[in-house]
Amino acid sequence: MRFIPLILVILFAVAAGVFLATTKDKSDASPFSGERAYAHVASLVGLGPRYPGSKAIVDAREYMIGQLHQAGWRTSLQAFEDDTPRGRTEFVNIRARFPAADKDEIDWRLGGGMLLLCSHYDTKLIDGIRFDGANDGGSSSGVLLELASVLRNTPDLARQVELVFFDGEEAFVDFTEVDGLYGSRHYAKFWRPAPASEKPAAAYVLDLVGDARLRIDPPSDSPRDLLGELYSAAEAAGERRIFGLHPTPITDDHVPLNAAGIPALDVIDADYISRGRWHTAADNLGSVKPESLEKIGRVVLELLTRRFGA
Ligand SMILES: [Zn+2]
Repeated sequence: MRFIPLILVILFAVAAGVFLATTKDKSDASPFSGERAYAHVASLVGLGPRYPGSKAIVDAREYMIGQLHQAGWRTSLQAFEDDTPRGRTEFVNIRARFPAADKDEIDWRLGGGMLLLCSHYDTKLIDGIRFDGANDGGSSSGVLLELASVLRNTPDLARQVELVFFDGEEAFVDFTEVDGLYGSRHYAKFWRPAPASEKPAAAYVLDLVGDARLRIDPPSDSPRDLLGELYSAAEAAGERRIFGLHPTPITDDHVPLNAAGIPALDVIDADYISRGRWHTAADNLGSVKPESLEKIGRVVLELLTRRFGA
C-alpha cells in the first residue's frame, strides 16, 4: 500500500520536470531577456530624476551611449535648445545605428527603408516629489538597450534599424503645441524635407511598457498597416491578448513623426495613465516587471524578423 503513493509521487515529479523543461525551453527560445532590460531600467532610475537639463539626464545619456557602444552600435547626438515654461532648456536626442561590416562611417542623413524604434528617456519634472519615471521613460529605454545587445547577433537585421532615444517628451506644464514632445518635434524636423525614398519607412514608439498589468492599446488613429504588423507579431509571439486599441488619439512622440511623413505607431499602455501610478512617486522600480519588458521585447524582435527576414 505504501508503494502506490510513492510511485505516484515519482510519476508526478517526472511529469512536473518534463513540464518545467518544456516551459523553460519556450522562454529560452527568445534571446531577449526581461531581466537584463530591467537591469537597465534600474541603472537609469538609480541616477535620479532625469528631467531635461538635469545632472541625472547627462549621466543617463552617458550610461546609454556606453551600453550602445559596448553592443557595437554607433551613436549620433542631436543637441538643441528650446524655450520652455521654465526657460531656455538644452535637450539631446540620441540616435544609434549598427555599422556595416566593411566601413565605420554612417551617413545619418539617409534613412530609406529603415525602421525607427523609439523611446523617450527624460522624466517629467514634478515639484515636491521624487519622480523616478521607472515605467514612464525608463521601461521603454531599457527595452531598447536590451534589443541593441540582442540585435548585435543578427547584424543584417540590426542595420535595418535606427534606435532613437528622445529627450523632452514630457511637458513642463501641459502638452501644447510648444510644450512637450521637444525631442521628437526636433527629430521630425530633421526628416521633414527629405525625399520620401530617403525617409525611414516607419516608426514604432515604445512608451509605458513595464507595468505588471501590461496592456498595449495604441491610439485610435494609428496607421492601420502598422497596427496589423504589430498584432501579427504579437500573435506569433503568443502575446496577442494584451494588445488592443485605445478609443481616442494620444499625444506622444509618434505625432510629430507622422506629421513629417514617417508612419508611426505608439506602442503604449494607455490604460496605465488611469490606473493611479502615472506621474506619481509610485512610478518607481517596484512597479516595473521584467516579465512585461520581456513580452514587449519578444514581440518587437518577432516584428523585425518578419519585416526584414532573418
Ligand atoms: Zn509621462
